[in-house]
Amino acid sequence: MRSISIFGATGSVGENTFGLLMRGGGPGAYRTVALTGGRQVVRLAEMARTLQAEVAVTAHDDCLPALREALAGSGIAAAAGAHAVAEAADRPADWVMSAIVGAAGLAPGLRALAHGATLALANKESLVTAGQLLLATAAASGARILPVDSEHSAIFQALAGEDITAVERIILTASGGALRDWPIEALARATVDEALAHPNWAMGRRITIDSASMFNKALEVIETREYFGVTPDQIEVIIHPESIIHSMVGFRDGAVMAHLGAPDMRHPIGYALNWPDRGHLPVARLDLAQLATLTFRAPDLARYPALRLCREVMAIRGLAGAAFNGAKEIALDHFLEGRIGFQDMSGVVEETLSRLSAEMCLGNAALALEDVMATDHLARVRAGEIAHHRAATRT
Ligand code: NAD
Ligand code: MG
Repeated sequence: MRSISIFGATGSVGENTFGLLMRGGGPGAYRTVALTGGRQVVRLAEMARTLQAEVAVTAHDDCLPALREALAGSGIAAAAGAHAVAEAADRPADWVMSAIVGAAGLAPGLRALAHGATLALANKESLVTAGQLLLATAAASGARILPVDSEHSAIFQALAGEDITAVERIILTASGGALRDWPIEALARATVDEALAHPNWAMGRRITIDSASMFNKALEVIETREYFGVTPDQIEVIIHPESIIHSMVGFRDGAVMAHLGAPDMRHPIGYALNWPDRGHLPVARLDLAQLATLTFRAPDLARYPALRLCREVMAIRGLAGAAFNGAKEIALDHFLEGRIGFQDMSGVVEETLSRLSAEMCLGNAALALEDVMATDHLARVRAGEIAHHRAATRT
């Protein structure tokens, strides 16, 4: 029987994973090792009881009493804190879902890989902050990383049986997010609710805002470079408002392989769960006659500065990804809390990158977790200072 753990079980990807496990036979078909979550301890405990997990872990120390209470009489161990989340990854499991949001997902993913687990990777921040470290850790233990981000799952599937050296380009599709049709002058006044109204995908709050700003796509460009080992100039981004083509691979003979499907995260999650087989998945089937048209347009870099910034980050590589992501997470916090405007987010990230470039060598190879986390921390501090300054001078 296959053993599994889910990091970030209570989130959007985590819930979809849980749903697929239940369809696949639930506790009779899988042995569940660890489930982790944040403040939703009642839901976490309910999932842990349903899947008969060994341990349930909340990221927050102050949530431990409530988690213990919710697990009372179940025999399931409870733990709390970032250390406990990472330690849960030391418990051997065959298949581990990495679905924590943000750089906090890196440490548990690395530990699961070090133990040889197959890592289903939704946490794109792991590859952005420490791609080389993640791949080296997997290579050292013989572990496999399966992409769960829909674009990267699409690329992975388009590459099945192909030689990576025959790849000419990778074309990432982007919906353009909630504000794609707004006049560019209006973006500065966009509210959190407006940016959350994603046209096609139901996802967690943070990634939904990142879709509107295209920081999500910027992270995915870096993720593509790190995971597939292509060069930055081989990666293109195209806006595809219908979100039916999840990405494409162009080969040296001019052929382009596209992956199509309904915009539903249960596809890439289920693909990673069933790989190398294809299981039956409860996703809508495409009706192409009804869809009738698929459209594309080039992204405007003035509207989406994040797409320009990710190119600078890839040119530096090393620790620049950790700085970029850390700054982005803080800028996003400040936008979500209403302190800075929508377009201030890219301003904060750009300023943080230039400030950090003057303070440290961002080009140093990111080969140790401590260096990555130190850069992440410094980027958060600087981005916080810059965001506070912007908030104070906001008109
Ligand atoms: P979410 O916000 O819905 O859920 C995040 C999960 O992580 C929750 O269980 C939360 O409790 C936990 N968490 C948050 N902060 C934590 C911390 N500091 N330490 C430990 N746990 C913490 O997020 P999501 O939308 O499910 O996204 C998860 C990851 O998957 C992200 O990296 C995202 O970019 C990626 N992803 C998501 C989707 C999607 O459809 N939602 C698609 C592609 C990729
Ligand atoms: Mg994606």
